[in-house]
Amino acid sequence: MNLHQPLTVLAGVGPKSAEKWTRLGIQTLQDLILYFPFRYEDFKNKSVFDLEDGEKAVLSGQVVRPASVQYYGYKRNRVRFSIQQDQVVIGVNFFNQSYLADKIQMGATVAVYGKWDQAKNSLTGMKFLTQIDQELQPVYHVAQGISQASLVKLIRQAIDEGLHHLLEENLPQTLRNRYRLLDRVRAVEYMHFPPDLASYKQALRRIKFEELLYFQLPLQLLKREQGQAGEGEILAYSPDLLAQAKDQLPFSLTQAQEKVLQDILADMASDRQMSRLLQGDVGSGKTIVAALAMYATFTAGYQAALMVPTEILAEQHLESLNQLFPDVPKVLLKGSQTGAVRREILEQIASGQVAFVIGTHALIQEGVTYQRLGLIIVDEQHRFGVKQRRALREKGLRPDVLMMTATPIPRTLAITAYGDLDVSVIDQLPAGRKPIITRWVKHEQQDQVYSWLKEEIGKKGAQAYVISPLIEESEALDLKNAQDLQAELQTFLGQEIQVGLLHGRMKAAEKDQVMNQFKAGELNVLVSTTVIEVGVNVPNASIMIIVDADRFGLSQLHQLRGRVGRGSIQSYAVLIANPKTETGKSRMKIMTETTDGFRLAEEDLKMRGSGEIFGTRQSGLPEFQVADILEDFPILEEARKVAQEIVQDPDWRTNPLWQEITWNLKEESLLD
Ligand code: ADP
Ligand code: MG
Repeated sequence: MNLHQPLTVLAGVGPKSAEKWTRLGIQTLQDLILYFPFRYEDFKNKSVFDLEDGEKAVLSGQVVRPASVQYYGYKRNRVRFSIQQDQVVIGVNFFNQSYLADKIQMGATVAVYGKWDQAKNSLTGMKFLTQIDQELQPVYHVAQGISQASLVKLIRQAIDEGLHHLLEENLPQTLRNRYRLLDRVRAVEYMHFPPDLASYKQALRRIKFEELLYFQLPLQLLKREQGQAGEGEILAYSPDLLAQAKDQLPFSLTQAQEKVLQDILADMASDRQMSRLLQGDVGSGKTIVAALAMYATFTAGYQAALMVPTEILAEQHLESLNQLFPDVPKVLLKGSQTGAVRREILEQIASGQVAFVIGTHALIQEGVTYQRLGLIIVDEQHRFGVKQRRALREKGLRPDVLMMTATPIPRTLAITAYGDLDVSVIDQLPAGRKPIITRWVKHEQQDQVYSWLKEEIGKKGAQAYVISPLIEESEALDLKNAQDLQAELQTFLGQEIQVGLLHGRMKAAEKDQVMNQFKAGELNVLVSTTVIEVGVNVPNASIMIIVDADRFGLSQLHQLRGRVGRGSIQSYAVLIANPKTETGKSRMKIMTETTDGFRLAEEDLKMRGSGEIFGTRQSGLPEFQVADILEDFPILEEARKVAQEIVQDPDWRTNPLWQEITWNLKEESLLD
């Protein structure tokens, strides 16, 4: 046996059921035993005297009356037996689980999870527990058509057969001693079936450490490689041309922008490869800094690529780059381009005819070759990780990499979490910005808000976004909500006011069209789902109304609000919400009190204890199976130290720590 074998080698797993498990991403034995529970149910043994009628609990005791099976009707049956706990005899009934009868032996001690019937002094069994001393029962993420019980059973089978003993240890003894970590086999066993809470905690700590170390190692390795002299391109840009470009801007850069630009230019001019994270709150002016860096690249005779998450943003950036630098040849690369059009564009990129290439992930996909790529800027997302950079290196490209984000991650966290990045922050808004006035109102006041909106449009020609409620589970409902809201507003505001609609299901071209109408002022109001969230820049829009604001996280609210207040006009945000919880209320309140993203992030962390909202999904911070980058920050720091220790050792290939590590990363190629 080895762990890379398919599940079908297990007794009872045929090709058809193996197919089913792939829906959970489980293909091999290893996938199965490393598929960890996401929580546990506490099945602590109860005393019969403590139970209340109807309560669900685990009772254990000695079998004092053997199991009998009663069959009635089609496929229906009842297993009955009795157990004795202390001096009390308890009847147990299981329905339609006749196979249990064989497992129940006289005199054996068993445990049953079930519903207590006080009057009958009996338990209706819901689950027969094989290991009676096991208090914590694993609960796994499952998919449709896959039952919790069947997964538990399969994992139980694998662990009972001892398959986890085939796992290779991937943390050296020295490290396990230093941090008092369980060995891998034991940890994996306890993750699934912890005998008690303490064991589970031990197992969790070990697995988290492992995850975080194996996350840090490639980052630190890459950092070491990139940081070396001669690894990057020297971009000898023209300071004069750059100064001219700055002079032509309609404003002067803020001090913070200037400082960050200098950081970037210094990296570009050095022979090391830049790997920099640029943080700046919404509206702090990251885009112009990026544009100037791209222009500097151009003056050095290199190409610059700008990678954004959506095609709306790509269009928007193309347009602003066109205004800033009309003479630089640019091209938009889209997933939807095909055939001759695509070939023509690829040819322009490969031959170096174009200097700026703007697009989504398509930018670094196969088949895209650059003549001389000097800089790649990744806007508003960090899915651009080790793998992507590795892919570039494999193509022989060593561009400087700048990642930009508006998600306010505390700096220390950013440095540790990204491990391999230098961090710059634009911590100042352009002068003359009027802080956005934020109000929180209840649904009862909705009509007043709309009347006020009508007035603002009529008197001042204001433009507004209205964000429709978010129904997490259903895109279809989101759409319906948005359509209803548009119709409702159109009726309320009257025919002279144009209300447009933007949602995620529209084709890219349709979205562009609507955005362009809004930008051109042909639409006064844009009803939108959260597709508007990231990066969109329409400086004339000054009103942001968010319906059911309590359905959004603080980070998202902050991003949404950041769509206004981008010019010199006074902007307003109105949060319409009747939050039910205290946390919900405090969130609305804090939004009205501050527009500082970092402060909001901190408040959010405080309120939630953990960083779910500002956490992994939205910030683009890496996600792990068990570790949580915010909650487990201390472990992450230790893991980073160890990774550095290994990587910085000039003889790291002969470092005993290193040698003991079985390199089982997907990024295996990193080693060579
Ligand atoms: P973000 O950091 O959210 O990407 P943008 O770069 O889109 O912010 O900038 C927001 C708005 O502020 C844009 O309209 C931009 O032209 C303007 N802006 C950027 N820098 C300055 C500045 N130094 N002074 C005045 N306005 C600026
Ligand atoms: Mg931006």
